[in-house]
Amino acid sequence: MSSRVSATVNLSAISHNLDVIQQAAPQSCVLAMVKADAYGHGAGEVARVIEPRVGGFGVATLDEADVLRSVGIVAPIVLLEGFNFSHELAIAKELKLDLVIHNLIQLTELVNDGAEGIPRIWLKLDTGMHRLGFSSKDWKKALSVLTDAHLPVESVVMTHMACADEIGHEQNQLQEQCFEEMSRGLPFPCSIANSAVILSRPDLHRDWVRPGIMLYGVSPFGAGQLVDSLKPVMTLRASVIALRDVEEGEWIGYGATYQCSTPKKIATVSLGYGDGYPRSAPSGTPCYLNGVYTELVGRVSMDMLTVDVSHIPDVALGDQVELWGEHVPVEQVAAHCGTIGYELLTGLTNRVAFHYVR
Ligand SMILES: *Cc1c(COP(=O)(O)O)cnc(C)c1O
Repeated sequence: MSSRVSATVNLSAISHNLDVIQQAAPQSCVLAMVKADAYGHGAGEVARVIEPRVGGFGVATLDEADVLRSVGIVAPIVLLEGFNFSHELAIAKELKLDLVIHNLIQLTELVNDGAEGIPRIWLKLDTGMHRLGFSSKDWKKALSVLTDAHLPVESVVMTHMACADEIGHEQNQLQEQCFEEMSRGLPFPCSIANSAVILSRPDLHRDWVRPGIMLYGVSPFGAGQLVDSLKPVMTLRASVIALRDVEEGEWIGYGATYQCSTPKKIATVSLGYGDGYPRSAPSGTPCYLNGVYTELVGRVSMDMLTVDVSHIPDVALGDQVELWGEHVPVEQVAAHCGTIGYELLTGLTNRVAFHYVR
């Protein structure tokens, strides 16, 4: 635990969060999203722990799927953007991946190939986000291509919501209606729900739910709406490597952006944006040490940042500062930085030492 920067990943918290998901959506199969190295937590470790309890995993790239297969994951793995370069289909088949099929080009290539060895395809409908998926117009054509092809694969229809984290946003209703129209009468299982939908819209859980951020104990709604039932999985810590007394009126750090309004005790902490802690974190961003909450003062540098410890007794070199995790919600840090927890969790660099605990 005395590494310069450590991320402790609590695997029991992942299991607990999966309990919460399964209690919320008892009728649905879980496709656990482990793209981007399980939101920065370590895809192999996360997937091994939950594999017996989920219906499959979602990844963004072939490399991510390869990592899972190489640690022995045999559960279904869905390649969320499907194959987008022609050499990728053969690799996907070797890895026995489920494929998202989101346009007519992919569908035609798949049909020409015969799709032998592909376990399942996830037909993605563009219901209003306009990023991936069949438009209503292409969908009619796609359905006729599919019907004629008699592919030896299971199909699921899916869509993704653009504004699910804003409960009551009118876009949600438009997308629901569009999905109902496009999927009406089809004999396929359906999937709509990311974390925000799982938590806010039981009526949209359908056959497969696709939790990402809530699996890692983070609210999809951000700092304004923390979800108490979830347990944070990652705790990021670094060490106090210097302590000094700074007089009233003195300035801290690059650019002299913070001036001490009173005499202060300042701790220099061993992480910075080179570790993935955001440089955009302003003075006032929360952190926690020796059982007390405090905050950043001055700019984050590449390898260090500075913290006000004036009100914390007995701070010593080597003390561990929590930047986010058990005591400091990453949602709050993200809010100070003008971003979302997702970006902070996925942004840690290879300087961070990961520890897995149960
Ligand atoms: C990442 C992703 C999810 C999970 O979203 P969260 O907000 O992290 O729950 C669900 N579906 C798709 C298609 C995704 O790409």
